[in-house]
Amino acid sequence: MVRITASVGQGGRNNRPDVVVVQDLLRSRGVDPGPSDGDCGPRTIAAIQKFQSRFMAAPDGLVEPDKNTWKQLLQSTATVAPRTPAEWLGDSAQWPQDKKLRSMNPQLAVKLRGVLDALGRRGFQPKVFYGWRSVDVQARLYAEGKSKVRFSFHNAQKPDGTPYAYAADIIDARYAWTPQADSSGFWKALGEEAKRQGLVWGGDWASFRDWAHVQLVANGELPRVKKESGL
Ligand SMILES: [Zn+2]
Repeated sequence: MVRITASVGQGGRNNRPDVVVVQDLLRSRGVDPGPSDGDCGPRTIAAIQKFQSRFMAAPDGLVEPDKNTWKQLLQSTATVAPRTPAEWLGDSAQWPQDKKLRSMNPQLAVKLRGVLDALGRRGFQPKVFYGWRSVDVQARLYAEGKSKVRFSFHNAQKPDGTPYAYAADIIDARYAWTPQADSSGFWKALGEEAKRQGLVWGGDWASFRDWAHVQLVANGELPRVKKESGL
């Protein structure tokens, strides 16, 4: 098992053997830290930050033993490196609404606009929380128990790495996932309007009611979508 003895990167201890390990792992992830020379210079720190931007809102350029960035580096060696274009890196939950809509399969985006308009007319304040999200973010949500799958319809992308989500999570901006989302009738209304547009609603799933979740196609299509995503 590969390991580091102390922190590497911005403000880290930067023991040479540890730096070499991190440089090698970064390269395996498609991020260039410069030569694996054990020297933690600006290029290596920039590479750590670039890698972190795939799953962190505010990259700090520091890899610490057993912390999230280290875990992500290790995990990544077992998965295919996404080739996500730079404009789509970072925490997709923080993107403006129009960018979230652009991160979707256009068929989903059109239907979703219909859902959002209808919910607005019913007095709700609907908001897209997640459209597309990266497989790295998915891995974190899976590890935290917030998602039941390692690859979801949210992760769908074109073979060139451009986001092409088949799913979206919709909340009322006032309630998010609090009990009021249910007591106000928002979840029920979301399900009604999603199905009116021909979308599949996660609130219908008996095993795991995913109230905010809507998707373009049935669950059985997931292997096909994954394959078309090159993942
Ligand atoms: Zn979802």
